[in-house]
Amino acid sequence: EAEREIEFFFPQEQTLAVIKPDALEEHREEILEQIRNSGFTISCMKEAVLSREMAEEFYKEHREKAFFSQLVEFMCCGPCMLMALTKENAVEEWRAMMGPTDPAVARETAPESLRARFATDILQNSVHGSSNLQHASEKIDFLFGDIVSDGDLSSHRDAADTLL
Ligand code: GDP
Repeated sequence: EAEREIEFFFPQEQTLAVIKPDALEEHREEILEQIRNSGFTISCMKEAVLSREMAEEFYKEHREKAFFSQLVEFMCCGPCMLMALTKENAVEEWRAMMGPTDPAVARETAPESLRARFATDILQNSVHGSSNLQHASEKIDFLFGDIVSDGDLSSHRDAADTLL
């Protein structure tokens, strides 16, 4: 009897990826190339300086953390590259490409990862990626709602206008 071949399919997903200000200046091309070479489609992309209000909203889940104000300050300190990435299993795959939050840990456990290669420290850690599908769709809507949504745009228009 011939063995049945089993193929696994992961659904196409979208995740939100950000090249943070520390990495955009020096490593933009390398990071974009690695994204493309890894089979992600960049469905939406824009370079922007986040306002303080947008950075606070973007990281609102961390409002209570001791490092929140540092984090907001850092995210506004220069341009970010905001991207919606599409691929099978995109959320998990982009997190794996990023590596652990702390680059010291990343260098130990995932030396090929973006954070191992490009992050400065646990705060200025080069890239962001959504941790689950719900966050991904929420943040993509927040940052790209003016482009990708054809519904009611008014709630996004103020936010979009604060972007360069
Ligand atoms: P991520 O999902 O790997 O980005 O990590 P978290 O969601 O836990 O944290 C969000 C971001 O806050 C990180 O990417 C870092 O930029 C920053 N951050 C996380 N933990 C720390 C910390 O302990 N100290 C400082 N200064 N920043 C941190």
